[in-house]
Amino acid sequence: MASVTISKLDKTYSPGKKDQFRAVKGIDLEIRDKEFMVLVGPSGCGKSTTLRMIAGLEEITGGTLKIGEQIMNDVEPKNRGIAMVFQNYALYPHMTLFDNMAFGLKLKKVPRDEIKKRVDDAAETLGLTSMLDRKPKALSGGQRQRVAVGRAIVRNPDVFLFDEPLSNLDAKMRVQMRAEISKLHTRLDATMIYVTHDQVEAMTMGDRICVMKDGNIMQVDEPLNIYNKPANVFTAGFIGSPPMNFFNGLITKNDGKLGFASHGTEGHKMEVLIGGRLTELAEPRVGKEIIFGIRPEGMEVSDTISESSIQALVEHAEPMGAETMLYLSTKSNDSFIAKVAGHYNYKIGAHLHLTLNMDEAHLFDAETEDSLL
Ligand code: ATP
Repeated sequence: MASVTISKLDKTYSPGKKDQFRAVKGIDLEIRDKEFMVLVGPSGCGKSTTLRMIAGLEEITGGTLKIGEQIMNDVEPKNRGIAMVFQNYALYPHMTLFDNMAFGLKLKKVPRDEIKKRVDDAAETLGLTSMLDRKPKALSGGQRQRVAVGRAIVRNPDVFLFDEPLSNLDAKMRVQMRAEISKLHTRLDATMIYVTHDQVEAMTMGDRICVMKDGNIMQVDEPLNIYNKPANVFTAGFIGSPPMNFFNGLITKNDGKLGFASHGTEGHKMEVLIGGRLTELAEPRVGKEIIFGIRPEGMEVSDTISESSIQALVEHAEPMGAETMLYLSTKSNDSFIAKVAGHYNYKIGAHLHLTLNMDEAHLFDAETEDSLL
């Protein structure tokens, strides 16, 4: 059983000193046995610090870390049953690939035959068999990263830790390695914890995603739940590309009809009728401040004006082939992005009507920024 349980985990760098910094603020998280958990968040949110505490590379300031049933706070890294893959590969330049992968096993005094078998198996899994005599400098970035993964595999750990392993690769190689690591997870059936700032990696690789901000956990859930039911404005804006559009304004009721009106002077507001799943949430909040959220893919260009459409000016358009990204603004100077299917040649400065799909819209509390859904 290789679940990883962290309770009230805390990290303060340079405690008691003038430059002390609390990078992780008492977080609770359970990573299940054999789960692929992605820790994601912007630079500085504490995700690498959390991973390094699990690895034993960073001292834990407070709270507990358990792997399986054992408390690991004071256990040496090499005795935690973990293997870590770093962003910069951390290969020994003077050693062949074989020796790079075998190094940890030699230190552990694993018998020679066993080492050879494990390295050969890992090399085959990763397509490195024909390169085992080469040194790292004779490899591409993607191949080097595979060696780093191979070095983790041969140790047969209970838990794999990945710290932004694909950041140094070009876009195409990143997509390929993403799929390879996911396949590896299925094949090895091991617990994996993967740190990235890339929300696409998080969405495509994780069984579950843990979204972090400023040393806190903002939400933990399966990728589609995070996308469809973000718990707060931060998660809603972080997961999804381009990000969700947000409008600050008020819930209104005119002639018995519920609506949302963004801030702005009369005649210069973004006004739209509220319906679908938002109706029940909006009803008790008439006259109240709210944040209205809608994803770029939650709206469509329409020929006619309706009560659930808004008018907007095209500021900029990015044709992507299968879809077009429209950068728009309303009369109340709210800027937003719409992702519409197909290739359109919208003229800059043109006025469009966009119908908002209310079943894909979100309401957030204006003060706490928590979702009301
Ligand atoms: P990135 O993607 O940029 O690595 P991250 O989310 O992984 O970001 P961490 O590396 O965990 O963030 O860092 C969290 C915070 O702790 C940052 O503000 C960072 O400056 C600070 N920090 C990290 N290491 C140290 C250190 N050794 N001493 C002091 N502060 C540190």
